[in-house]
Amino acid sequence: MASTPPGKNEFKTLIEFYQTMLAETGVEVMLGKKATVSEISSGGFDEVVVATGMKPRLMPVPNDGTAKVTTAYDILEGNEIAGRRVLVVGGGSVGCETAQYLANEGAADAQEVFFLLRHAAEKVEKVMNLMNNSRRMVTIADIMAVGTGFEAGTGWPVMKDLNRLHVDQRPFHVLERIENGAAVLKNLKDGGTDSAIPCDTVVLAVGADSERTLAEELQECGLPVHTIGDAKNVGRIMDAIRQAAELAKQIC
Ligand SMILES: Cc1cc2nc3c(=O)[nH]c(=O)nc-3n(C[C@H](O)[C@H](O)[C@H](O)COP(=O)(O)OP(=O)(O)OC[C@H]3O[C@@H](n4cnc5c(N)ncnc54)[C@H](O)[C@@H]3O)c2cc1C
Repeated sequence: MASTPPGKNEFKTLIEFYQTMLAETGVEVMLGKKATVSEISSGGFDEVVVATGMKPRLMPVPNDGTAKVTTAYDILEGNEIAGRRVLVVGGGSVGCETAQYLANEGAADAQEVFFLLRHAAEKVEKVMNLMNNSRRMVTIADIMAVGTGFEAGTGWPVMKDLNRLHVDQRPFHVLERIENGAAVLKNLKDGGTDSAIPCDTVVLAVGADSERTLAEELQECGLPVHTIGDAKNVGRIMDAIRQAAELAKQIC
């Protein structure tokens, strides 16, 4: 998910690195399989490390059924299709990167721009237009400011992209309901004016909580577990890797 937004493709190299290292060090990997308490308790393990990540936070949205509600995580994982008119709720780093991803999907990408310019198939101004205007209408709303929560120095290209692609930013707005194919937002700054944003999909990016179900079930059965990464505290990749390395050293 972290590697899906524009400019973050490099994060995939981390997955490739671990695929190589796990194979080289003979770690057995079982994909598409849910770890359960019964299998773990009968597995004869000396140590159990739970790194089950996070679960997206949800919020109730009164909805007359005229727009779909999903999460940023489902969009970035490719489980859900956003449609043409999208409201992203939550202007933190995940919400902004999801809005950036969706807006970019509706604009000419690097390959198309290169093709059109290389073959002089369109005038430069037209190509610039195709590149800088999204066919998708994206709005991003937050009860606070939009564009907070980025690591130092990493937010500016995202915010620049949102402006370039004319993503409508609504800071200090709360989503009240979905009705008649529109999301109704209340402005928290001007005494509560309502505005209706026509939308096909509302994408929630309102935070995440640690996924600790397995760790708690194991502890209830009296099995000692080490919990690391987002399962311990929702954070950043380097925090998860550092905790893993320190724990591995301690276990050794
Ligand atoms: C959109 C987005 C952008 C991000 N951008 C950045 C960034 O720019 N920089 C940064 O440092 N961090 C970023 N992060 C955060 C970073 O991805 C996480 O901090 C990191 O992946 C946490 O690693 P983890 O191993 O703890 O959990 P995860 O990477 O979430 O892995 C948990 C794994 O456990 C599996 N699992 C859960 N339950 C079970 C079970 N019962 N049995 C078997 N498997 C199970 C899940 O399927 C998942 O594969 C971003 C996150 C998101 C969602």
